Amino acid sequence: MSEKKHRTVIVGAGMAGLTAAVYLSRAGHNVLLLEKNKECGGLLNSFNREGFTFDAGARSILNAGVIYPMLSELGIELEFLNSPVSIGIENEIIHLSPETGLDEYKRLLEKLYPDSIDDIEKIDSRIRSIMKDMQVLYAIDNPNFREQKDGAYLKQLLGWLPKFLPVLRRMSKQNEPVESYLRKLTSNQSLIDIIAQHFFKKTPVSFALGYFYSYTDYIYPKGGTGKLPNAIAQKIIEFKGEIKTETEIVAVNASEKELRDKDGKTYTYDSLIWCADLKTLYRILDINNLEAKVTSKILEQKELILSKRGCDSVFSLFVGVDMPLEEFSSISNGHFFYTPSRQGLGEIHWSELDSILENFETKSKEEILQWLERYCQLTTYEISIPAFRDLALAPESKVGLEISMLFEFDLLKKIEEANWYEEFQTEVENRMLETITNSIYPGLKDKVLFRSSSTPLSIAKIAGTSEGAIVGWSYLSEVPVVNNLQKIPSSVETPIPDVFMAGQWAYAPAGIPTAIITGWNAAQKIKKKKK
Ligand SMILES: Cc1cc2nc3c(=O)[nH]c(=O)nc-3n(C[C@H](O)[C@H](O)[C@H](O)COP(=O)(O)OP(=O)(O)OC[C@H]3O[C@@H](n4cnc5c(N)ncnc54)[C@H](O)[C@@H]3O)c2cc1C
Repeated sequence: MSEKKHRTVIVGAGMAGLTAAVYLSRAGHNVLLLEKNKECGGLLNSFNREGFTFDAGARSILNAGVIYPMLSELGIELEFLNSPVSIGIENEIIHLSPETGLDEYKRLLEKLYPDSIDDIEKIDSRIRSIMKDMQVLYAIDNPNFREQKDGAYLKQLLGWLPKFLPVLRRMSKQNEPVESYLRKLTSNQSLIDIIAQHFFKKTPVSFALGYFYSYTDYIYPKGGTGKLPNAIAQKIIEFKGEIKTETEIVAVNASEKELRDKDGKTYTYDSLIWCADLKTLYRILDINNLEAKVTSKILEQKELILSKRGCDSVFSLFVGVDMPLEEFSSISNGHFFYTPSRQGLGEIHWSELDSILENFETKSKEEILQWLERYCQLTTYEISIPAFRDLALAPESKVGLEISMLFEFDLLKKIEEANWYEEFQTEVENRMLETITNSIYPGLKDKVLFRSSSTPLSIAKIAGTSEGAIVGWSYLSEVPVVNNLQKIPSSVETPIPDVFMAGQWAYAPAGIPTAIITGWNAAQKIKKKKK
């Protein structure tokens, strides 16, 4: 079969699907990329409202030694802007830079928790050693994304490999949840919370604390984060790949190698790369007429996958405000992690939430709203202001703000079932706005021109992700996929004949860099298979 005849169908045009499609179409493969939504990008996208541009998914993009070389190799010209990060707790705000960021962070913690100076010293030294590993990890362009290895790059690569291999081994072993890791270094629960509540529950420590390095690696495409998937989609078409949007796959027949969409149209494949929600794949998979040995492997995997959950989700508030940019730029950078109280969410808060979820029917609206009130006051917010990076993203003298916090999918689900979802959504918006106005941006709520929000339920519906997860699997139990950096190439394999997977459900911990890397690896497997 010629490469042109060998048809690879890719389901899901998020960053994983786009990456797989662009590399395969560039290599001359016959590629069909199917996407359920009107736009490509999945969880990485921007939208416009009344002259404001907002980023509905990731607020900035980690270069991670991947984005720049990948775009250059594919001949995609996209202008990137710096996207520095600030961290604030109550009125103390620091601006992170690769040189001084951690010193500042340490001083910030010492000021807020003067009784825990010795513990902070220990925590600081652990973060530093993880950061050093991250520096090595990202020190050079990822070799997978540098096919043209000139002399200068090869020299760099040879010098880097001996440092990289021990880091790889070390990082693969540091899978302890960040909370329990910190608990060994301090008994100050507020201090633990204030560091750990930036991350998803039980995030592996190397990934969580490594973010102090990653914060300095964020970049922002001019025009909004959605420019990146759009540019890759254009390139796929240039390379003669086909993209079909508004096409939701609702059935996969493994023996016939056939997909069916919502409208009943069918698509046959020689190879399939599944880049959407993995629970969906196993739910809609028909495995009749496969060999018994293969069937039993698939059923085993299906049971495992369906028994697991997606990770935490987020509630995001998008507001257009009639305030000049200077009022915000005097406070922080355009990407800002802000916690209004040093108290921290605490175990008590989490057990209260568990109790609400377990005994939902017996809880009154007032009790749930009281919990919400405290949650909004104690949680950590990710605040992003697109116009900071690119003035064109808001009308003159006005600013668009994206304010988000981690939020429990199950709570919203129960509230929806109890028929007060929209009311609750408004209550959350009100409290977020109130908290931010009473803490970091005085007067904000009186200057709001419009507002809207996205919830874990809307994320689940729009991106089709289980439990509204924004970075794949939950760490609350063992993840059902590869979670060791050394094994990332094999993460894309499935027990289903000629079916590969990529994206945030294929590898943990996930995010944009791993979506791209797994997309690339899936494309490699298909290229090798053809050879
Ligand atoms: C608010 C927010 C902040 C984030 N911040 C960061 C960050 O700072 N750093 C970071 O690395 N990551 C971040 N992420 C996560 C990151 O955006 C995702 O992990 C990554 O984009 C996932 O890419 P993907 O291709 O694996 O999946 P997705 O983006 O989920 O793409 C899957 C695609 O499949 C489509 N699809 C689903 N079901 C079907 C079907 N049946 N048929 C056809 N198509 C289907 C979906 O519509 C979607 O387009 C954030 C996400 C959000 C929402």
